[in-house]
Amino acid sequence: MSGFRKFFLTLFSLMFCVSTAFADKTMSADVVVVGGGGSGTAAAYSAAQSGAKSVIVLEKQPSPGGTGKFSEGIFGAESKMQQERNIVLLKDDAFKMIMNYSHWRANAKLVRAFVNKSPETIDWLEAQGVEFQELTANYPGGLQSWHIFKGRGKTMLETLRAKFPQLNITLLSETAGKSIIMKDGKAAGVIAEDVEGEKVIINAKAVVIATGGFLNNKEMLKKYTRFPDIVPVGNVGKTGDGIQMMIDAGAALEGTEVVQSYRPGMPGEATDSQLIATARQPYLWVDPHGERFCDEMIIFQWPFAGNALERIGGLMYAVFDTNTKNYMMQQGLDVGVGVMVPVKTKLTKLDAELDRGIKQGIAYSGKTIEELAQKMGADPKVLRATIERYNTFAEKKHDDDFAKDPKYIQAVAKGPFYAVKSMPTALGTLGGAKVTENLQVVGTNGKVIDGLYAVGNDAGGMYGDSYDLLMAGSTIGFAVNSGRIAGEHAGKYISTVK
Ligand SMILES: Cc1cc2nc3c(=O)[nH]c(=O)nc-3n(C[C@H](O)[C@H](O)[C@H](O)COP(=O)(O)OP(=O)(O)OC[C@H]3O[C@@H](n4cnc5c(N)ncnc54)[C@H](O)[C@@H]3O)c2cc1C
Repeated sequence: MSGFRKFFLTLFSLMFCVSTAFADKTMSADVVVVGGGGSGTAAAYSAAQSGAKSVIVLEKQPSPGGTGKFSEGIFGAESKMQQERNIVLLKDDAFKMIMNYSHWRANAKLVRAFVNKSPETIDWLEAQGVEFQELTANYPGGLQSWHIFKGRGKTMLETLRAKFPQLNITLLSETAGKSIIMKDGKAAGVIAEDVEGEKVIINAKAVVIATGGFLNNKEMLKKYTRFPDIVPVGNVGKTGDGIQMMIDAGAALEGTEVVQSYRPGMPGEATDSQLIATARQPYLWVDPHGERFCDEMIIFQWPFAGNALERIGGLMYAVFDTNTKNYMMQQGLDVGVGVMVPVKTKLTKLDAELDRGIKQGIAYSGKTIEELAQKMGADPKVLRATIERYNTFAEKKHDDDFAKDPKYIQAVAKGPFYAVKSMPTALGTLGGAKVTENLQVVGTNGKVIDGLYAVGNDAGGMYGDSYDLLMAGSTIGFAVNSGRIAGEHAGKYISTVK
């Protein structure tokens, strides 16, 4: 063999080996769902129950569940659980309350579809084996719409996932959706990347985007919301992938400014931190100068607390004295932290937690108000004036400034005095692609993009400018209900695709 021939043969065999080693993986399914959390799990399940013979779920993390696994309970109106307990929450009333809360900025048809589906979804979850442990409201006087899962969202999602094999749903973990395949203006699959960085092509008749919003994407928070520095709570990896994929495919956006702002907190503090629990009580809150800025009872409706905190620049201090510290340790909390730290929990570890916080620079103590102010970086004269005025409100049992319920005006009188630093936190972002009431994505040209659905925190239109806590359970509620509606629609739509 001539040297020339030998060279080319070697080159060809090398090229063959290289192309085989890097060959794209190609798969196909009736429906591909990007994101295996609350909404994606429900969408895959419903698509399979509605005619899809094969469904692929892509999950970029090693295990599925997303933020959905942290959720405690789901919204429902006119559910059987409510009827059994003589709790009247009519679908008509829930719909009107949601629309009025949003000043009719929300998508009325979408909200109506969500509310109408909500009781049936609770029955559906029970039929799949999901159990509920109680029905409650999120704060005193709130609506009894929060159907609490036994074992939290984690168990609810595991229960659904257990049936994936029999429904021919394939879950691909550590496989991230990257872009939507478009053919003739319709969604026709997804290009993904597996853990080795290899390209995976999934051809499908319908695509559901369920990647959980963009709370962990700093740039998107800055671009779309009022909360560029908000502290994310819960699952990581909510980096707006799906929303970006939909923008690239021509989607219009809606409601991207809405953030599910949560109780004040600090980065790295656990949701059951006893230190941070003190900043979540309706006592005295001051801004960095030492001035009071709100009726602290907005802690009960924490989206309001997020808004008020954002107005003062995103940093506050909860200030209390030794009497209130002892009250929290011996009598317990006036405000619980979800169902994780119930009301009246005694903060028995608070002394140790305060010492830890002081060392970390997120808590302060002073024998006098002036010493406390200096350590906090506040103006000692301003903090003293604030506390003296506040103590007059405690004395006369009336808050002249912000009309707080006198029950929660605790005088700040007995040293040592304490302050706990805190910032707005959030559980998620709540806007994304503009959708119809069937969760079909609407393009920037105003027309539906056939075969493309956005669900859960990747869809916009459920809220106005702030999260609505009156409807307890509405975000996992929207995730599961929007997933179900999209899955059912996609299941029918694919029969029309050749
Ligand atoms: C502590 C906590 C408690 C909560 N409690 C409640 C409650 O009691 N009631 C309530 O209504 N709501 C609650 N929520 C909010 C609720 O959990 C969320 O609104 C809901 O889970 C959102 O569902 P989702 O499907 O949009 O997102 P997720 O459940 O977060 O799912 C998104 C999934 O997509 C994956 N993903 C992201 N990018 C990609 C990609 N490129 N490719 C593939 N996969 C990707 C993520 O890893 C994730 O698994 C709570 C949230 C937290 C943090």
